[in-house]
Amino acid sequence: MNLLVTGAAGFIGSAYVRTLLAAPDAPRVTVLDKLTYAGSPDNLPLGHPSLDLVHGDICDAALVDKLMADADEVVHFAAESHVDRSIVGAGDFVRTNVVGTQTLLDAALRHGVGPFVHISTDEVYGSVASGSWTEDHPLRPSSPYSASKASADLLALACHRTHGLDVRVTRCSNNYGPRQFPEKVVPLFVTRLLDGEKVPLYGDGRHVRDWLHVDDHCLGVDLVRTRGRAGEVYHLGGGTELSNTELTGLLLRACGAGWDRVEHVADRKGHDLRYSLDWTKARTELGYRPRRDFATGLAETVAWYREHRAWWEPRMRRARTRERR
Ligand code: NAD
Repeated sequence: MNLLVTGAAGFIGSAYVRTLLAAPDAPRVTVLDKLTYAGSPDNLPLGHPSLDLVHGDICDAALVDKLMADADEVVHFAAESHVDRSIVGAGDFVRTNVVGTQTLLDAALRHGVGPFVHISTDEVYGSVASGSWTEDHPLRPSSPYSASKASADLLALACHRTHGLDVRVTRCSNNYGPRQFPEKVVPLFVTRLLDGEKVPLYGDGRHVRDWLHVDDHCLGVDLVRTRGRAGEVYHLGGGTELSNTELTGLLLRACGAGWDRVEHVADRKGHDLRYSLDWTKARTELGYRPRRDFATGLAETVAWYREHRAWWEPRMRRARTRERR
């Protein structure tokens, strides 16, 4: 079995591939990744006999066609993934998240490849004041990032309805864990606190997110790949809802810092107040259940960043150089 995994030099995809390849019955895995600022080969177990890393773009139709011809199944993680960047400029988000996804779908269709698991996000629904969304809730994305992901979801599902391709869509909550690029809130705050710097808290800090350990997300993705049904959407939630103020308090405590290290900054434009997924369908149909206790998972994540400065310091330096340009 040859599994084509896109975007697996990034945070979640690399965790997924590391888990797959650690199993005794590991499939052959081909990773296609553009190695943008967010992706790096050192996230992958390079040298593993069942792993091939192809440096390339999911919008490159000829390359995608060649790789798809050898693939049996696809898990599609590749995306521009940071909301703040999409607010500054949406072009790359439309190109990779929408056009890139369609390029993969077209090739999968030509070569009859499936299941094709498309990884999406809770952000496609927009904000929910109370209760939790089920999979049939209308999509009302707020940011260019979530709008591009929603567009890709619709194209993927349309490919199933129109052509019968075995497409499955997952929508998950905020992931946390090791190897997340230090621009997302958990690694940004932890690395800044470890460096003795201040951390920027958006607006009044009341925005609520559900938190999911990346390893639990990867287990859920593999349940969808192996046991899910064609044309279905599955929610993969974490079960730990926290306001940004609550999360900040936990991170300050974990890093031994006080509230004087918090700088209140203007709110993100179009900032959704709350996301919340109902994941009953994945639980009852697939046996999905997040296993990692949040307090333990967060403590381990903070410890990982504390012990892996050599991983994040060069990335921070490169990001700052880019910002100054
Ligand atoms: P990430 O930014 O860490 O990694 C994205 C990867 O995609 C990188 O390796 C990058 O090099 C690659 N990539 C970008 N453009 C590409 C292109 N044109 N061609 C090939 N590769 C390209 O992202 P992540 O946090 O690992 O997210 C993975 C997926 O999960 C994304 O689809 C994202 O929308 C979704 N998701 C993430 C979260 C989260 O909390 N991180 C939550 C919900 C959904």
